[in-house]
Amino acid sequence: MEVRILHTRLRTEHDVVSLRQRARQICTLLGFSVQHQVRVATAVSESARLLLNQAQGGRAEFTVELQTASPCLAIHLHADGPPPPRLSGDPYTLDPDLAGVQRLMDDCLFNPTGSDGTSIILKKRLDNPLLGPQDIERISARLLAEPAATELSEMQLQNHELLQALAEVEAKQQDLSALTRELEDTNRGMVALYAELEEHADRIRKADEMKSRFLSNTSHELRTPLGSIRALARLLLDRVDGELSPEQEKQVALIEKTALDLSELVNDLLDLAKIEAGKVEVSAVEFEVDALFSALRGTFRPLVQKGDVELIFESCSPIPSAFHDEGKITQILRNLISNAIKFTPQGSIRVGCAYEAANEQLLFSVSDSGIGIAEKDLALIFEEFAQVENAHQKHVKGTGLGLPLCRKLAALMGGSISVSSREGEGSTFVLHLPLMYGTGTAAMRAAVPPAQTLNHGAARLS
Ligand code: ADP
Repeated sequence: MEVRILHTRLRTEHDVVSLRQRARQICTLLGFSVQHQVRVATAVSESARLLLNQAQGGRAEFTVELQTASPCLAIHLHADGPPPPRLSGDPYTLDPDLAGVQRLMDDCLFNPTGSDGTSIILKKRLDNPLLGPQDIERISARLLAEPAATELSEMQLQNHELLQALAEVEAKQQDLSALTRELEDTNRGMVALYAELEEHADRIRKADEMKSRFLSNTSHELRTPLGSIRALARLLLDRVDGELSPEQEKQVALIEKTALDLSELVNDLLDLAKIEAGKVEVSAVEFEVDALFSALRGTFRPLVQKGDVELIFESCSPIPSAFHDEGKITQILRNLISNAIKFTPQGSIRVGCAYEAANEQLLFSVSDSGIGIAEKDLALIFEEFAQVENAHQKHVKGTGLGLPLCRKLAALMGGSISVSSREGEGSTFVLHLPLMYGTGTAAMRAAVPPAQTLNHGAARLS
């Protein structure tokens, strides 16, 4: 719905001035903000001047479009007669002032060949969208009663607006300078922070290197004397230097056992230090998982023969040949099986292997029905020297280095270790490894039947 507010003619420069004045009056009565009043008044006077200069005048009409999604003030400016040559074509490239007008309004439509001549239609959304037709009629009546201002008063007003605009620009410039300074300060702070971070990271790297070097050196230094202690204790226990009293035998056996425990700790520490220093290499060979399991079965048979624990190696065929560091896989599985035996007072331990053809992964699993691990401790057990506190722990030996070592070895081979457990029900550790390690992949791939799904042996454990 369109409600007409005012209709004026446009013949002289004086008309342009009073049109500007009327535009501002209308905007004030419609409740536009001061900024918007200036924008509309400027856009109207610039468009009117353009029409007057290039098309020898015309008329202007102010209407309000109500009951639409966005009610607006519309100003239709019509030029008399056919379109002058300078007003046909792309108006924005012809007259840069029109492009400026477009920026001041929400809508600016230029029609050089309309049915009633050349026209420019300007639109500005109302700041107060709740105005009704009666309000508009009242505004229209007021406008007719109030004469347009003189040129002098319009000039004074424009000067006033200019001063206001300059003050605003000045204030914005000051804000901008303050913001730039703040930004510069923040930037400087960030640079300093980054430098500090870099320094910290460097110090941590160096400390880590020093720790690895220290561990490696001390472990080496301890290994030889520990070896001698064990050898001497064995000589004494074998009665090479004569008979021992029962008490002496007990003491020497204790010395031998302690030296053995310490040797294991030193070996684990040395392994960890070597991995951290990047001194451990993966030496991949082709091997069969079945053969690896037979060797492990032989190693552990004596440990479980008399106990209440059953150790079951599940059938793994037909899993394709793997190309990996068999020694390191054995070391990891040995550790996981030893733990399972240690923490399963009675029940069973199942060792299995599954092959996931989709992502060419081997999944070695060690599953026990032992004491299990509480949810809160699951992440902790992979930290160096971490042991879960429970009644069973006191009766078993350990260093707390086995799982961190296993995890580092697995990562070195491009794999990982996951664990799932329930307290009192048992635990399942899974070693995930690619079937082929590193450079052997291409050569070995040619030997493996393509797209074969071999998923026998143990079920996938999660
Ligand atoms: P440790 O030499 O003490 O066995 P690990 O790093 O191998 O060191 O294991 C850390 C801790 O994780 C163990 O001390 C034990 O508390 C817990 N743990 C490891 N494996 C099992 C398991 N199969 N069942 C229950 N707890 C386990």
